[in-house]
Amino acid sequence: MSGVRGATGAGAAVPAPDGPSERRPILVSADRSRCMAAGHCAVTAPGVFDHAEDGLVVVAGPEQSEEEREVLELAVELCPSRALSLSPGAAPSAQGAAGRP
Ligand code: SF4
Repeated sequence: MSGVRGATGAGAAVPAPDGPSERRPILVSADRSRCMAAGHCAVTAPGVFDHAEDGLVVVAGPEQSEEEREVLELAVELCPSRALSLSPGAAPSAQGAAGRP
């Protein structure tokens, strides 16, 4: 049988925020030691992923908005070496409070 897998594979999903007041960025990371330079990520999300001269992935946009969730999860799902991961960023209120006396 054949079929297209969904964009929300195991380990790819980032928990959705509870509501509009909890708009957290999505942090994108890539493990270059696992990357095999297949290039699917840069094709899927060209503004987020790029390649260095060695052909391995570079995260050009490590902090993405919730609106990019679907394409980010697709890029994670399509990576043949499972080099990509997503995690929730800090809440905006926490970012604003950081470093203040
Ligand atoms: S899809 Fe995965 S293996 Fe291919 S370039 Fe991107 S991170 Fe590397």
